[in-house]
Amino acid sequence: MTTLTAPIAEARAAKRAALDELAGKRLLASFGISVPKSVLVQDADAAAAACGSLKPPLVLKVVSPDILHKSDAGGVKVGLEGAVEVGDAVRAMMKHPAMENARIDGFLLEEMAPAGVEVVVGGLRDPQFGPLVMVGLGGVFVEVLADVAFRICPITRLDAEEMLDELKGAALLRGARGRKPVSREAVMDVLLKVGGERGLLMTHGEDIAEADINPLIVSEHGAIAVDARFVLTQ
Ligand code: ADP
Ligand code: MG
Repeated sequence: MTTLTAPIAEARAAKRAALDELAGKRLLASFGISVPKSVLVQDADAAAAACGSLKPPLVLKVVSPDILHKSDAGGVKVGLEGAVEVGDAVRAMMKHPAMENARIDGFLLEEMAPAGVEVVVGGLRDPQFGPLVMVGLGGVFVEVLADVAFRICPITRLDAEEMLDELKGAALLRGARGRKPVSREAVMDVLLKVGGERGLLMTHGEDIAEADINPLIVSEHGAIAVDARFVLTQ
């Protein structure tokens, strides 16, 4: 039997099939993965008031069990500088046609991660092999680029390193075209925290059907999971 971490236990108790973004990020944080500082709010006034406790620029995101791809639904607004802009962004987001028939649980207001390379780290449960961990390049373009590497869990540090080397776009992490190299170490660290011996998938794999950190933003200094989605097993 696995011990249920709080966000999973809460989602199970609420009979939810997936963790919402905030719960997903709490789960990642409990495994030592960096996530943006964030606040969940219910309306424009609360969002504006919450700005005081966060460092701009900020990102606003809709939280809805009915909206899987938030950007496609007008549910992500980046680069907000202050309370007035944040309040206006919430009001505009609420009016978006895609929100009309969706259940809205609130809005996540969070600090922006420093610019970097967008990587995807994921996990899924294979009926035969158990948990698999995946890394890919491309963030929003991951499906288009299809540049991914998979391993059966648990992975070692060497596996994590080989997964990165396997990517066709591996050079992007090393700083192609005059760009600064970003931290491969930070990506490997996240891969181990997800797919390593004591990682998320090895310890909670019976509850997690699908894990998706998309994107993990990797800069020179580290990696931050700015989006998180977990689908629970039935
Ligand atoms: P979705 O995948 O549901 O459309 P995301 O939460 O992944 O929504 O946000 C879409 C894009 O916005 C991300 O791929 C990333 O480029 C950017 N973004 C989101 N949150 C942050 C953040 N905290 N810091 C920097 N960029 C962000
Ligand atoms: Mg995303």
